[in-house]
Amino acid sequence: MSATRPILVVGAGYAGSVCARALAEAGLRVRVIDRRPHIAGNAYDEYDGNGILVHRYGPHIFHTNSQRVFDWLSRFTEWRDYEHRVLASVDGMLLPIPINRTTINRLYELDLDEAGVEQYLERVREVRTPVRTSEDVVLGSVGRDLCEKFFRGYTRKQWGLDLSELSAGVAARIPTRTNDDDRYFADTYQAMPLNGYTRMFENILHHPRIEVLTDTPFEPASATGALHVVYTGPIDAYFGYRYGPLPYRSLRFEHEYLPGVERHQPVGTVNYPNEHAYTRITEFKHLTGQSAPGTAIVREYPQAHGDPYYPVPRAENERLYQRYKALAEREPGVTFVGRLAQYRYYNMDQVVAAALKAAEKVRERLRGGGT
Ligand code: UDP
Repeated sequence: MSATRPILVVGAGYAGSVCARALAEAGLRVRVIDRRPHIAGNAYDEYDGNGILVHRYGPHIFHTNSQRVFDWLSRFTEWRDYEHRVLASVDGMLLPIPINRTTINRLYELDLDEAGVEQYLERVREVRTPVRTSEDVVLGSVGRDLCEKFFRGYTRKQWGLDLSELSAGVAARIPTRTNDDDRYFADTYQAMPLNGYTRMFENILHHPRIEVLTDTPFEPASATGALHVVYTGPIDAYFGYRYGPLPYRSLRFEHEYLPGVERHQPVGTVNYPNEHAYTRITEFKHLTGQSAPGTAIVREYPQAHGDPYYPVPRAENERLYQRYKALAEREPGVTFVGRLAQYRYYNMDQVVAAALKAAEKVRERLRGGGT
């Protein structure tokens, strides 16, 4: 009987796990597979050999303005309030990023009030219309000098591209402030899962109609007998790279335990726009609030090859993605969702929202008698 055939969900990260839960709660049977030996995708966290909770795939800091998303996840975790702060190492100082009043006053040895900062920026900004690239965004908001000091080098390292080669949306993630607000995010909800992301994912996937198989790569045969497939891997891989590979940016993570060190740095993350091969150092105890002897940090080294972490937002890649998307639309038995399958630079909360929406779409398709 078709109602007993499972839905196959490929990938146990946010997209797959959230979709799986929503479908299971709608009465469907779900099999989740992931090629890695663990669930939670890149949000996976674990206690390292020294008992410190670390994020294996780099820092994940949860923030959202969506009450719906926050409420949904709150069914699976309690939270610890946490507001992320980031300092950038520039001209031998550690200065707030996003650029704010403190950044400008300390960098230029000024004593401007908010209106003064507004006037300062008004004077230095180079407005460009239309705003197409990340360079247009940064020059248009903070001008040339701040662009070179805070953005050009970091972006070159992170993406292997100049700011002018990236879509506006990348740099637009970082606001500019004239007040003293030094939080990295301004969202209504900013919190970390109290017992970690992995535990939250265990709870999401803990359901009598969900079966989870790790160490299980997706192969065409995996879908045999499935009622429907939810695919969260790279969309170009699904179609055998028919139109050529879509670029995804990768990272190498260098984790280090510092024995005898209570605090390595004053805030959760320090960015290095102009020095070192890595972009930033994150110290986990700030994020998790854990008290433990010693401290654990991670350095992020961007690279072109390796696990796909970021789509690379630029016009030519979007055009290639659209060709794959057209193929995806001709596969009614498969739903594509998530950062890799939709080639979108989603934050965690955006993936949750996209996955809930995808689950709705799957239910509609199945109600309509499709696959
Ligand atoms: N960025 C930068 N300097 C910074 C921080 C960010 O140039 O100090 C730019 C850079 O291009 C980066 C983008 O803004 O890739 C988005 O930064 P975000 O911190 O949101 O990146 P993520 O945490 O997703 O890696």
